[in-house]
Amino acid sequence: MKKNFMNTETRAFLIRKLLTVCPVCQKRIYGKDIDILKIDKKKISHWPLRYIHCHTNNNVPFHALTIYLDNNFAVRGNEVSNFIKIEN
Ligand SMILES: [Zn+2]
Repeated sequence: MKKNFMNTETRAFLIRKLLTVCPVCQKRIYGKDIDILKIDKKKISHWPLRYIHCHTNNNVPFHALTIYLDNNFAVRGNEVSNFIKIEN
């Protein structure tokens, strides 16, 4: 078995896992909301990982929630910004 092998139960658990609740709009962010299974730990050189999830919810304008994830995909903190510009 490979060292970083993730079994079916672990994958299902991570998808359903409630990671955090947005402090601004109370949106619940689950593993599936951040495509958690696509995060390749081998490519991450620095923990905690900062994942930015932009959303609107409960009539709250678009905002960015930064989620700090440790290498067990546990949330170590979060931050919200209302100032966002995404350029391509
Ligand atoms: Zn929110």
